[in-house]
Amino acid sequence: MKRSKDRRIKKLKRNRILPSLIGLCFLLFLFIILLAVIASFTVVSTLYTKMDQCNANSERIAYAYKNVSEGDIDKTGENVLSYLSFSPDIDTVSILSADEKPLWSSSDRYPDMSSASTFSIRQNGTDYTYYIAVEEDAQNIFEFEDEELAISSDIFDFIKLQSLNKMSETSESFDNISIIEAKLWYIIPSGDYNVCVLNHIHVYAMDFIFILTILGTAVAMLAIFCIYYVISFIFVLADQHKITKIIYTDMVTGGNNWLHFTTHSTKLLKRASKKRKKYAVVHLRMRKYQSFCTCFGVKDGEELLERFYHALRKNIKRKEQVAYRENADFALLLLYEDENTLSERISQIESSICQVLENIKLNFSFGICLPEKGETDVEKLYNNAYIARELLCEDNEKHIAFFDIEMNKQHLWEHKVEDDMEKALLNKEFQVYLQPKISTRGEQLGGAEALVRWIHPTEGFIPPNRFIPIFERNGFILKLDDYMLEEVARKQSEWIAKGRKVVPISVNISRAHFTREDLADHICRIVDKYNVPHDVIELELTESAFFDDKQVLLNTVKQLREHAFPVSMDDFGAGYSSLNSLKELPIDVLKIDADFFRGIDSLDRGMLIVSEVIDLAKKLDMKIVAEGIESREQVDFLIEQECDLIQGYFYAKPMPMDEFEKTYE
Ligand code: C2E
Ligand code: CA
Ligand code: CA
Repeated sequence: MKRSKDRRIKKLKRNRILPSLIGLCFLLFLFIILLAVIASFTVVSTLYTKMDQCNANSERIAYAYKNVSEGDIDKTGENVLSYLSFSPDIDTVSILSADEKPLWSSSDRYPDMSSASTFSIRQNGTDYTYYIAVEEDAQNIFEFEDEELAISSDIFDFIKLQSLNKMSETSESFDNISIIEAKLWYIIPSGDYNVCVLNHIHVYAMDFIFILTILGTAVAMLAIFCIYYVISFIFVLADQHKITKIIYTDMVTGGNNWLHFTTHSTKLLKRASKKRKKYAVVHLRMRKYQSFCTCFGVKDGEELLERFYHALRKNIKRKEQVAYRENADFALLLLYEDENTLSERISQIESSICQVLENIKLNFSFGICLPEKGETDVEKLYNNAYIARELLCEDNEKHIAFFDIEMNKQHLWEHKVEDDMEKALLNKEFQVYLQPKISTRGEQLGGAEALVRWIHPTEGFIPPNRFIPIFERNGFILKLDDYMLEEVARKQSEWIAKGRKVVPISVNISRAHFTREDLADHICRIVDKYNVPHDVIELELTESAFFDDKQVLLNTVKQLREHAFPVSMDDFGAGYSSLNSLKELPIDVLKIDADFFRGIDSLDRGMLIVSEVIDLAKKLDMKIVAEGIESREQVDFLIEQECDLIQGYFYAKPMPMDEFEKTYE
């Protein structure tokens, strides 16, 4: 599950910038290669044409000197000069004798035959030999090296090779219009002479006009393409930014979401272990958010969450994190030094977010998980913080709980209980056990208390303290208490029908019931199904219910007594008992908590208090039941104090109803 989620997130976050960048570079590279090929091809072919021209001119001049006697050289030279006026590319014409002595020149220049190279060309079936020498004042474009000449069988190949080599060096001369310039002597043996023609070879930018147009168009296209690519690249960047923002934004608060929290917190936790910083993962819940939504609507509820988010943001530092999780839950990653300062800081955060609403008192609870060194699994850490908060007692003053490993086991157990409870009720896995209450007068059976036991198909016998607190938290206790009440009513009616003498059996009514105003009527409806007189069903409620909604409790007790149900106050003396509640609550029976009798001897102050409480209760016309009595000594003391009933292991442990029936016939 988690892996496929990770894959989906990775896909969303995948970087689209790199492929675009690579694409752009590749296209540019292709264009450059293409331009280089076109340019070199153009230069070479232009050069080729020029060389052809030089060759033809030189041939023509050489032909003019064929069969000319030495005395006619000047005259021939003049003719040649007039011919030259039409060929601006021919610089000089000179005549050397067969043994290379200078005979005539149009400008007193002769080639250096020692540096000339030999070439042969076959024309019309005849081989012609040429010599080529570089003129000193040429732009030194060609470097004639013997090895290169040796492998160049053809002059054009040779020049092409040289010009290609020089391409890059001469490219800056684009500014001077001439791209390539060279002066070459063509030395052609003709009759008795060597006719030398100094050719001035230019490759002008003008020669490239057509190619330049193509190149210009290509460059323009390239520019357009690049601009298009850059623009689309900017759009990709913007899209990438937008996508990142969307996947990290929470729709309810407009702030960071859970994905942002886990991603960034993981990074911070990884860095923290290197820098010796300590982080705490905190789970925060606003209590009674559902009630708030019921009163003010979901829209106001969501607005409230948004305000919480911003209030939380103001309270966190730069290298900390906050995100909205779900329902009314937020996740925080906080730096801390020790647990005390962390608790203080959380209390400060709490009081700051409490100020978000002025007229309504808000309640929050916090679960905290302190990661071990190197622990970076944020989801697990948050889950632990969640468990700690879940197991937090309702009346925890600070509303803050730190996670420890035991909590995990407890949490798993809670889940199991919650998964199985409904089925257990249907399958009658909950059984009623009865514990007798013995009268101090003649040590007779005077009553009993119904106590639940869960006989689980796989877990076996489960005592109530392992599931009652869970049911109290999740509300299932309401169903269970109704079930117990009904089972007791059924048993009492069965015993009455059998003609058996029945004693009052007390049933525990959890404080969770006292939120409903028709509780008395509800109890009547259950009991009346079995036609049982109300005085044989006693209702035990704890004093703590007094602190939830005093008025509902007082009204319910009043109504129950009007319906003739005996009402007892359970666990008196445990926790925060007050004599005040005794005065206000019109109850019939006071059950003194077993705590009074734990670890104290008869002379102790505890006994003194018990005797005073018994005295007071008698004056208020209440019956007294002492709970958790385990020794003869305690029994004797209670008889002496005229306590009415005694419940405890001294007489009997809670037992199944059948066993109870047989034992107390
Ligand atoms: P409680 O109502 O105060 O019940 C009395 C508890 O004290 C019972 O524990 C009983 O077994 C135990 N007890 C009785 N005599 C002695 C004794 O001499 N020594 C010692 N050590 N213990 C003694 P149990 O049955 O485990 O129940 C625990 C608590 O679970 C009950 O306390 C009650 O608060 C709750 N509970 C049990 N059944 C129900 C139920 O059906 N509904 C509700 N709402 N709560 C129930
Ligand atoms: Ca009880
Ligand atoms: Ca009790």
